[in-house]
Amino acid sequence: MRYIGAHVSASGGVENAPVNAHNLGANAFALFTKNQRRWQAKPLTADNIRKFKQRCQQYGFLPEQILPHDSYLINLGHPEAEPLQRSRDAFVDEMQRCEQLGLTLLNFHPGSHLKQISEQDCLARIAESINLALDATRGVSAIIENTAGQGSNLGHRFEHLAAIIEQVEDKSRVGVCLDTCHTFAAGYDLSSFEAAASSFEQFDNIVGFDYLKAMHLNGSKSTLGSRVDRHHSLHQGELGTELFAFLMTHHATLGIPLVLETIDDTLWADEINWLRGLQQS
Ligand SMILES: [Zn+2]
Ligand SMILES: [Zn+2]
Repeated sequence: MRYIGAHVSASGGVENAPVNAHNLGANAFALFTKNQRRWQAKPLTADNIRKFKQRCQQYGFLPEQILPHDSYLINLGHPEAEPLQRSRDAFVDEMQRCEQLGLTLLNFHPGSHLKQISEQDCLARIAESINLALDATRGVSAIIENTAGQGSNLGHRFEHLAAIIEQVEDKSRVGVCLDTCHTFAAGYDLSSFEAAASSFEQFDNIVGFDYLKAMHLNGSKSTLGSRVDRHHSLHQGELGTELFAFLMTHHATLGIPLVLETIDDTLWADEINWLRGLQQS
């Protein structure tokens, strides 16, 4: 079974996300459990939590179909002690919110060296941040998203993802979310069936499909290797559509959340339907 959905709005409360996903005909969704552009957030209330769980059950969303995304402010590889601590505290809070909601995955961007420390040091900090968060929580896995490599963001090379995982102590609670736009912008060609097969083979050799726990399905406005993160709708942009036919018949996309972050949310229901249809092709 493939779980296909979109990153839906949780405005008005996290309990609205499963309703928004259901209305799209989705059987997966992503959400922010707090405002993604602020450090502070009100704790989830007992009412938020009860309604969220009740609606997930009502609409048939299991934890494995739901991919919460953390705040954009968090940098788990920050070169300076104080901002690093602030990020680590905020990340534990994000993990605890997932725990409260009965969720098992937390998708996050690995971090940035800000040109102050080496890539290697930054990757070690990120891994240590994950270790601390896993120690402080139970049942939630840290899902590292690959990046386009914009600015000093790490995670754009498969080797970065492998280096982080290698330094995580509890390998049963770490995984990867591959974003199609980021992968392409980072320089891995996905623009034909053959190119996608070759890039996925590289991923399997360097990281391993066992660690692939989620995907973001996006078109790309940016070109191959541009290191620029600009999503597009699935039928527009530089990626073409062969990639999606490849993905919807690949074993590695079974049983994990496949989440649209495409730019036109009025197309989401159609994009989900189209992806579903590709499974038979
Ligand atoms: Zn992301
Ligand atoms: Zn992106």
